[in-house]
Amino acid sequence: MLLRLKRALTERDLESILLLCKDLGYVTRFLDEARELLELCGEGAPDHCARLTDLTGVAEILRPGAPSELALRSSGSQEDRVVSVHEARFGAGNISLIAGPCAVEDEARLLEIARGVQAAGATLLRGGAFKPRTSPYSFQGLGQRGLDLLAQVRAATGLGVVTEIMDVRQVAAVERVADMFQVGARNMANYPLLKELGTTRTPVLLKRGQGATIKEFLGAAEYILAGGNEALVLCERGVRGFDRVTRHLLDVGAVAHLKMATHLPIVVDPSHAAGRADLVRPLSRAGIAAGADGLMIEVHTCPGEVHSDGAQAVDLNTLEHIASDTVALAQMDGRRVVGTSQVLDNDGIISPTITPGT
Ligand code: PEP
Ligand code: MN
Repeated sequence: MLLRLKRALTERDLESILLLCKDLGYVTRFLDEARELLELCGEGAPDHCARLTDLTGVAEILRPGAPSELALRSSGSQEDRVVSVHEARFGAGNISLIAGPCAVEDEARLLEIARGVQAAGATLLRGGAFKPRTSPYSFQGLGQRGLDLLAQVRAATGLGVVTEIMDVRQVAAVERVADMFQVGARNMANYPLLKELGTTRTPVLLKRGQGATIKEFLGAAEYILAGGNEALVLCERGVRGFDRVTRHLLDVGAVAHLKMATHLPIVVDPSHAAGRADLVRPLSRAGIAAGADGLMIEVHTCPGEVHSDGAQAVDLNTLEHIASDTVALAQMDGRRVVGTSQVLDNDGIISPTITPGT
């Protein structure tokens, strides 16, 4: 069972709550730094719910056994959560752009792409060092060498880094470099990994599995939140459809639904949904229009030399247009795109001026 406590309780209030929980037979632990989420383990006394509800410091008792309590808005009133990642901000009207290659390939290319995406308005650089590939014979990523290159480019550009983690054994190495862990679609249900990431305080981008229902997606999110890591951003990247014209189906309905159902930010990845560079810009527009708090775009500067997902990589010019579209759409509903000037020039291109997030 979980108790959500009222904000800013005094030590005395906290002590009396902990004491009562102990008297009722529970072992307790706080799940967050603000000490507002208290987990109660054990059977407890039969009249526990009534006694706990009566306590002045308890805001609510979260239903035992519900799969996604922490991710959901309680009675529709909970404010949007803002997740800060380096200069990027996601949620509560803040939109941020993540862009970069599918995989880290070599130093010169990574730096070239990083500088380009930064100039276009991205605040976070993406790039996988560990790549989950359908075939074991395809390029698997550079591994530790890829992480080292990300660290170098991070230092050279000041961009934050988002990179994929596939295994609990990679946590320490990836965390040394990443400003945000990416959990890929194939690992959305890797529960030991999700649990481990819940114990860290590094932000997580959790991608929806290719065949995952919203309930399963939020259940996966819950694993991370339940460990006390609240810096979680969801990512819709398309689900499996029946038509092969696009690689996956971008579920914009899920984006709109999740914005209502949860207080967590959600990012759209149009690249893996489309599987085709020519559809990335229109799907980006659709994602932002549906309420997404950010985009994650695969970009490459040399289409003939891409090591993975080449067909869906857009060039820097297209990324600039996507950024401009995003600014224009954000202006329509009073949101802001972090890292960009809000003013479009005469050609409809945004100024690349970096404005620090708030
Ligand atoms: C990726 O971001 O490169 C990736 C492998 O994505 P997904 O997990 O959505 O397939
Ligand atoms: Mn990819």
